[in-house]
Order: sequence, then structure tokens, then C-alpha cells
Amino acid sequence: MHCAALKEGEGMQQPQGPFCQSCAMPLQKEEDFGTNADGSKSEEYCRYCYQAGKFTEPDISMKEMVDKVVSFLVSLEKMPEAQAREIGTTFIPQLKRWRE
Ligand SMILES: [Zn+2]
Repeated sequence: MHCAALKEGEGMQQPQGPFCQSCAMPLQKEEDFGTNADGSKSEEYCRYCYQAGKFTEPDISMKEMVDKVVSFLVSLEKMPEAQAREIGTTFIPQLKRWRE
């Protein structure tokens, strides 16, 4: 018995992401990714935020995005509102779209 399997699995698991740099959704499947203007896959944004090289909601504010993510986590992930809000207000401001 040894623990080599743990090490070997690391490359496939990617526990650190990637995450959408707009809404923090984990980008796991090929269809989760947004698209660039030339139709290629965006490496940074999900398909809900970014399509054909443009943000789907270009005028949304960071606060509105936090509200969106909170209600998503509460309704779909059945997360308590306080916990969802803590995650939203912690993660969203760190994302590339909101850091400038
Ligand atoms: Zn997104």
C-alpha cells in the first residue's frame, strides 16, 4: 500500500479552478466556457457571461453580480443566504473582470 495514486490524480482534478473571471462559476466541462469573437473558446469566462467576444450583460455592476451569484447559490445549491453572500462578497471582487 502506498499513496502514489493521490499524486498521480492531481493533474486531472484541478481543484483550484479555473473559474469564470466574471461570476466565479467553476469551468469544468467544455460547454461551460464562453466564446471569443472568432468562435474559439474563452479561457477566462463562462458561457453565461461571455459570448462571441462580448459580455452578455456589459453594464452589470459588481454588486449586481454578487446579488446574482447569491440568489443562484441559494436557489440552486440550497445554500443559506448568509453563507452564499459571504462567498459572493469574498470571491467576486477578486475576479479579473472586477479588479480594475
Ligand atoms: Zn460567468
